[in-house]
Amino acid sequence: MKSRIVLLGPPASGKGTQADRIASAFGVPHVSTGALLRSECARGTSLGREADEWTRKGLLVPDELAVRIVTTWMQSNGPRFLFDGFPRTVGQAENLDASLVAMKAPLDLVVLLEVPEDEIRRRILDRLSCMKCGATYAAALHGHAVGDPCPRCGSPLVRRNDDTEETLAQRLDVYRRMTLPVVAYYRENSPGILHRIDASGESDAIFAELSRLMNS
Ligand code: ADP
Repeated sequence: MKSRIVLLGPPASGKGTQADRIASAFGVPHVSTGALLRSECARGTSLGREADEWTRKGLLVPDELAVRIVTTWMQSNGPRFLFDGFPRTVGQAENLDASLVAMKAPLDLVVLLEVPEDEIRRRILDRLSCMKCGATYAAALHGHAVGDPCPRCGSPLVRRNDDTEETLAQRLDVYRRMTLPVVAYYRENSPGILHRIDASGESDAIFAELSRLMNS
């Protein structure tokens, strides 16, 4: 079974949802750098305040900050993880590889979830999130409104301050320019571990495909 996994994909490609499902089915810790940053921000730490300057504009936080939050996580939890939203730049990917080489624990699976941009737009503009447990919901599909209790943990649902039309354009642009090159990086540097999944369809079918890769 795979135990060091990176999930890549544009915003709202289902990384968080699938990472949660894989984490509970396979017992690998789900680490979302976006959720870690939002939690720092909610607690009002200096790292959180710095991160918020970038995330609210749809920009990536500086590599140094993203790497710091992941390194801190690995120091207390060890090299078993499913990263969702990290690495997002080639610099972060190089940094992660260097840390894993030092631990003699290389990545064993990278999966790119592919979703067309019109579908991403539809999903993001309809998305409500729980800041406490990280769950996300399609408002139209599930009849949820801002302020309703999260069905999973009871905290009020919110619209993330970066889930807006203006910020989305910026996030998609950043994804194309900064994160797509990470796919090429793994294709060239870690032959055989990169897989692509069409993530525009049914959640169950995507989960089945991911599970197959986890067991392969
Ligand atoms: P989404 O995948 O829907 O964009 P995330 O929760 O993964 O949402 O990320 C939200 C924001 O947090 C990003 O737009 C970015 O500002 C910041 N962020 C998360 N992970 C990273 C990272 N690895 N490097 C830089 N910024 C990050």
